[in-house]
Amino acid sequence: MIRSTLRRALIGAAFGIAALALPAGAQQAYPSRTITVVVPFAAGGPTDTVTRLVAEAMSRDLGQTVVVENVGGAGGTLGAARVAQARPDGYTLLMHHIGMGTTPTLYRRLSYDPVGGFETIGLVTEVPMTIIARKDIPAANLQELAALVRKETTKLNYANAGIGAASHLCGLLLQKAIDAPMTTVPYRGTGPAMTDLIAGTVDLMCDQTTNTTEQIRAGAVKVFAVTTPQRLPSLPDVPTTAEGGLPGMEVTIWHGLYAPKGTPEEIRLRLSRALQVALRAPALIQRFADLGTAPVAQDRATPEAHRAFWQADIAKWRPVIQAAGQYAD
Ligand code: ASP
Repeated sequence: MIRSTLRRALIGAAFGIAALALPAGAQQAYPSRTITVVVPFAAGGPTDTVTRLVAEAMSRDLGQTVVVENVGGAGGTLGAARVAQARPDGYTLLMHHIGMGTTPTLYRRLSYDPVGGFETIGLVTEVPMTIIARKDIPAANLQELAALVRKETTKLNYANAGIGAASHLCGLLLQKAIDAPMTTVPYRGTGPAMTDLIAGTVDLMCDQTTNTTEQIRAGAVKVFAVTTPQRLPSLPDVPTTAEGGLPGMEVTIWHGLYAPKGTPEEIRLRLSRALQVALRAPALIQRFADLGTAPVAQDRATPEAHRAFWQADIAKWRPVIQAAGQYAD
């Protein structure tokens, strides 16, 4: 009895030593458990929709479940903070959008480093925007809408996902193009904002086609324009902003996948490979197309291409925000 206990203890110790002697990577191949992708906006919105499609396709390649966690609020900065402060082990990731380009200048006081706090995995998609309104708004086209905004100004309100959100930026561009102010109504994401727009409790919104296409087709909201130089095959009857009389009001919203700073290179490359596989999946491409978008080219779904694009976007927005002198704090 004593001898067999001793024997078990010795065998146990030997296994322990053997496990310690194994090189780190050989102990458990990555990924060995569920991966969480934080969406810094509410469920049901466009970033959430894109992320769920990508997460599902990536999980097939990674052989592990990839779950989405919505951490909305403060223009996406709460969710970004959560990931910047997470363990850099490849199990907590961030899917964000153009806000990663504007936040470093817009927000001067943050609890995390909005640039140095992250590693890039790859770009995902660039999504057109649509200008939409509650369906009973008394305007039949973009010109009439512009006239209404000039007449009513701050009596009209536009929903957005907080300062620095895509919907906020697009709303600013719209007000500048029309040359009249409106009242801002912030939400934790444009998923819940859409619910209020359909109910008619807010007047206007400018949001990604990944949130608006189905509501436009269903007639739940009134659409005025797409913010691209050409019409979209998914919404062929909707005029462009230029056709509607607001030339130059063009904007698309890029999305990228991030990991916390310090995530090992082999993990980042594994994730990047899985992202590239996901973006080639026929079902994902089809769903993206139905929602008015497309995956980026494969060579853009890499850490280097993503970082270069992100840095250029920060440099593009910095002078614009500084000239406007409007900060989030
Ligand atoms: N479309 C939102 C934005 O305005 C975010 C979201 O809910 O995905 O940035």
